[in-house]
Amino acid sequence: MTTAAPELVTKMECETPEFLRAQRQLDELAVSMGLASELHQRLRYPKRALIVTIPVRMDDGLVKTFTGYRVHHDVTLGPAKGGIRFHPEVDMGEVSALAMLMTWKCALMGLPYGGAKGGVRCEPWNLSMGEKERMTRRYTSEIINFIGPDKDIPAPDMYTNEQTMAWIMDTYSINVGHTVPSVVTGKPISIGGSLGRHEATGRGVAYCARRAVKHLNWTKDAPEVVIQGFGNVGSITAKYLHNAGYKVVGVSDVHGGIYNAKGIDIPSALAYAQEHGTLANFKDTEPVNNQELLELPCDILIPAALGNQVNASNMERIKCKILVEGANGPTSPEADLYLHENGVMVVPDILANAGGVTVSYFEWVQGLMQLFWTEEEVNTRLETIMGKACDKVFALSQERNLRTRMAALWLGVSTIAEAKRLRGLYP
Ligand code: GLU
Repeated sequence: MTTAAPELVTKMECETPEFLRAQRQLDELAVSMGLASELHQRLRYPKRALIVTIPVRMDDGLVKTFTGYRVHHDVTLGPAKGGIRFHPEVDMGEVSALAMLMTWKCALMGLPYGGAKGGVRCEPWNLSMGEKERMTRRYTSEIINFIGPDKDIPAPDMYTNEQTMAWIMDTYSINVGHTVPSVVTGKPISIGGSLGRHEATGRGVAYCARRAVKHLNWTKDAPEVVIQGFGNVGSITAKYLHNAGYKVVGVSDVHGGIYNAKGIDIPSALAYAQEHGTLANFKDTEPVNNQELLELPCDILIPAALGNQVNASNMERIKCKILVEGANGPTSPEADLYLHENGVMVVPDILANAGGVTVSYFEWVQGLMQLFWTEEEVNTRLETIMGKACDKVFALSQERNLRTRMAALWLGVSTIAEAKRLRGLYP
């Protein structure tokens, strides 16, 4: 259903097709939940957005300039929170759309944060370690007034990791004159990271897949799973689902995918990918490309790589019964509607991949308290929060006959709207 946008009082540079898609989702929801127009309008655009130029001395001695962004979509409930990605498709629209998703995700999970996202437009695979470090440090210094443990707390996202967070934390700390571990999450354990953070997103995705299976009362012994992406999210999801007795029949990385209808030996595939940097030619599997992979017969499909992978061009050939969104925005709005109407249960990104930001929250809390938890404490708390969120989303979707995505958004948006209403409008 498309609905008319409220009367426009704002227009911003972020209005790319990707951003408008995120905005239309809010518009659709605002109508069905009867959201007050003044609250709706305040949530349609980022609160603030920063664009920076990042000059970097490359290994050949020449200076190259990159463009970086950091966007705060909303800060009603607390500091802005969200990842930083390094990717050629990063632009103001993408970062703003993802910042909006972070607002709904944090609110849905009950975390005291608003939503943010940042990124640098670059080809990270063409940068040396030194170039990446200099780019990260200069980017941090350009956005330094925008971030801080009580303002905005970055974390890893596509093509950034624990090392990236360590550089950001170091650059920030040196500039303010003392060590501030809580300025980022997803840090290495030895400088204040949390046990379980590295695995948290994949653990949460696997947990949601199992909750969805339970919700549908499946009795099948080893549901068949296909996973697109073998980075931090995809590979760890594969590991946990394999350990839980699921049959992972297809996985892929940037170079392509592998398939075995009888199930892939995931522990060996993980070791193989680690050693060879690719899944290609892994034993007892046949090669498939990334598009074919999505269309493989399976019970559960988990896109855990890029956005917009399941869309109008392939939605009719998708064969899964449950789709769990490990990536942010892997399903286009048309495909979301089509899958719903054809009986596919979609576990939306803001629920399915929220394990990462949830354990980020634990990391931030532990850092502020200077009191560290065991891995078991982290995992138990994560499962409690994710379990509650799954129950709420599945129940609301049934109660109001909403797509699961809309139910998840409803819960997130209504939390923020209520907080905004109570805080009122300044001045
Ligand atoms: N980048 C992750 C996400 O999209 C994690 C964000 C965080 O931990 O702050 O949810």
